[in-house]
Amino acid sequence: MPTELTEYDPSLGNKFIFVTGGVMSGLGKGITAASTGRLLANAGFDVTAVKIDPYLNVDAGTMNPYQHGEVYVLKDGGEVDLDLGNYERFLDIDMTFDHNVTTGKTYRHVIEKERAGDYLGNTVQIIPHITDDIKRRIREAAEGHDICLIEVGGTVGDIEGMPYLEALRQFAHEEDEEDILFTHVTLVPYSKNGEQKTKPTQHSVKELRSIGLQPDILVGRCEDKLDPETKEKIALFCDVPTDAVFSNPDVADIYHVPLMVEDEGLDEYVMERLGLAEEAIPKADRDNGWREIVTTDPTDEIDIALVGKYGLEDAYMSIHESLKHAGFETETDVNVLWVDADEMDDEHADRLERADGIIVPGGFGARGTEGKMEAVRYARENEVPFLGLCLGFQMAVIEYARNVCGLEGADSTEMVEDTPHPVIDILPEQYEVEDMGGTMRLGAHETTISEGTLAHEVYGSDSCTERHRHRYEVNPEYIDELESAGMRFSGRANNRMEILELPDHPYFLGTQFHPEFRSRPTRASPPFVGLVETILGDNETDTEEVTA
Ligand code: GLN
Repeated sequence: MPTELTEYDPSLGNKFIFVTGGVMSGLGKGITAASTGRLLANAGFDVTAVKIDPYLNVDAGTMNPYQHGEVYVLKDGGEVDLDLGNYERFLDIDMTFDHNVTTGKTYRHVIEKERAGDYLGNTVQIIPHITDDIKRRIREAAEGHDICLIEVGGTVGDIEGMPYLEALRQFAHEEDEEDILFTHVTLVPYSKNGEQKTKPTQHSVKELRSIGLQPDILVGRCEDKLDPETKEKIALFCDVPTDAVFSNPDVADIYHVPLMVEDEGLDEYVMERLGLAEEAIPKADRDNGWREIVTTDPTDEIDIALVGKYGLEDAYMSIHESLKHAGFETETDVNVLWVDADEMDDEHADRLERADGIIVPGGFGARGTEGKMEAVRYARENEVPFLGLCLGFQMAVIEYARNVCGLEGADSTEMVEDTPHPVIDILPEQYEVEDMGGTMRLGAHETTISEGTLAHEVYGSDSCTERHRHRYEVNPEYIDELESAGMRFSGRANNRMEILELPDHPYFLGTQFHPEFRSRPTRASPPFVGLVETILGDNETDTEEVTA
């Protein structure tokens, strides 16, 4: 369980950029914030971020991927909202559990303090006790960084968000004006006759002002760039200068948002307002690697089948992003073909057969596991490049036990408690665990990789440190049997099996960990790059054969 912050620290002179959202959720304010952060980092500043999730859950660990998308895992084992993944990818930083503030965490901490008698008989209230705790968390997460972006989840006006906005209002009084910036992201829809409408933005700013917050910057999400007249109208009604109104038009891919923000000049405006312009690296000297990577045209195109059970892209966000990163590195357009493991009808089976490679992702519970196992079998028997992640790794073990070692009914005790062959079994330290939240084997752990293996080639190293989130593992009692039948456990953490491979297969790799959480646009994750490169190599051989 990641540690909770306990000590209060006064402001340390950092700069704070608060980002709120109006009109409706899902406007991509996190991506806008992260993109601005990327550009500030390019200008030489140390940027970090805090995501505020105003829900009562302590963390995202117990949440259904259908509702909130994937649970993102941090290096310290924090199970957090997938937006933190975007901050890590865009800013190329490692965040900690403290960078995700939730209502559950805040209230729990304050109530625990109350029980301990720390409030000395006072009435414990939202203001000041909860708001103080919120401010403390923001300041502590920002400590040691030049700039901290703070994104308030949800939409202004939500009941859940009120204590946070009140905390921000107090925050603004406690800091120097030049150290704080309020950015509000809203929607600018088109009317039937093609006019950009500013009324929703006006109402949302009115709501914000009624709480005592005046935005410094307004960003309008719109299909296209905002017209100059639209910007002027927003400026007039919302009481900001016209040059503080920015467009956030639709772009082809999220990795193009920093380019768009730069074109709009939002980063320069932010630096100007925060008094950072003088310190910034001159524009001509800034790192332009990002632009280069995301605008290079791919020279190849491949299809990867993703065999899961949640038919929702967000549920596997980091895998999608990792494939894009591997595509950047190899100049390849990687298409993902969704294959529903739970309903493998003809259409889905056809996608599986059409794919150049197969990924079986992580997951929990029995639903879809037989379909996943079929996909593993297909990849193994037909020499289709394969990557199994966490549950996908476990499925590969079970499939091998059943169909190669002949262990009939082999399974994971997660799915079938009284299986005759528990090749995947609960981690010994989990026997006594009853609570579901934050109790799995979580976060970064080191794996030792054997020389002369595919894993060693892929990582180019004797070890790797990747993030984990699991309760089950390969049962040590079956390791010898699986290995003598041909499966190789090439990565281990003591007696814990972390990586598997099949030496006779072009690319059959499984990892008990989740490499997708450490993949970055500029540093793609090795197992994903290996998968794409193997396919590209195969395709090349195929073309040579055809032309020969
Ligand atoms: N359900 C499996 C376990 O708990 C796999 C978890 C996962 O895929 N993240 O071990």
